[in-house]
Amino acid sequence: MTGGRRGRVPGEQPDWELLRRRMVRSQIEGRGVRDQRVLEALGRVPRHLFVPAISRRSAYDDTPLPIGHGQTISQPYMVALMTEALCLRPGAKVLEVGTGSGYQAAVLAELACEVHTVECIPALAEAARGRLLALGYNQVRVHSTDGSPGLPAEAPFAAVLVTAGGPRVPEPLRQQLAADGGVLVIPVGNRLVQILLRVTRHGSEYREEDLGGCRFVPLVGEEGW
Ligand code: SAH
Repeated sequence: MTGGRRGRVPGEQPDWELLRRRMVRSQIEGRGVRDQRVLEALGRVPRHLFVPAISRRSAYDDTPLPIGHGQTISQPYMVALMTEALCLRPGAKVLEVGTGSGYQAAVLAELACEVHTVECIPALAEAARGRLLALGYNQVRVHSTDGSPGLPAEAPFAAVLVTAGGPRVPEPLRQQLAADGGVLVIPVGNRLVQILLRVTRHGSEYREEDLGGCRFVPLVGEEGW
């Protein structure tokens, strides 16, 4: 732990586990996320190790935080809501577009999923890869490329999660969903505000549901802005 704020005893550590338990209870369970496995996953991932040292003490606050390169780690509630919306079974093969810090990927790994996560900013991809390995999340593969057209070589996916907001649902991501109930969750809208869309595939039918308003950094690349 480096540099506390001025006035703190050097080396003094917050009780991260306590902060994390409180976060899960008040911000997540308290707002209606009921899936026990999702609550337990968020209770296990050390979020303070996914944010820059300077923001560490805010890691369990009810807010997104900057992670450099103009990007953010999503608010804990949003991570929980999106994860729950994916209806994941253990062993599910999942694609995340927008690795950022790697936090969401770690939550997916806690749910025993096979995770492929894609990040287009090489320095963030590299940092997330190192962090996930150091924390023992060996079942996560970090790809450093444009993820907006998905990862055709690894398809189909039981679930696809996009953690950046795009102008529309990319057609390649629909195509890469498993035909028997594959689920895509993606923020769609303009560059400032979006709605969280859930698309469920059954054969050639795609059902869309609006899960509410949200605010994500822009999805860039071939199928983004
Ligand atoms: N899920 C992340 C937060 C995501 S922030 C976490 O848990 O920390 C959104 C991320 O999406 C940013 O890091 C941004 O660089 C990335 N991104 C935006 N467009 C992308 C694209 N086309 N392909 C891959 N990553 C993209």
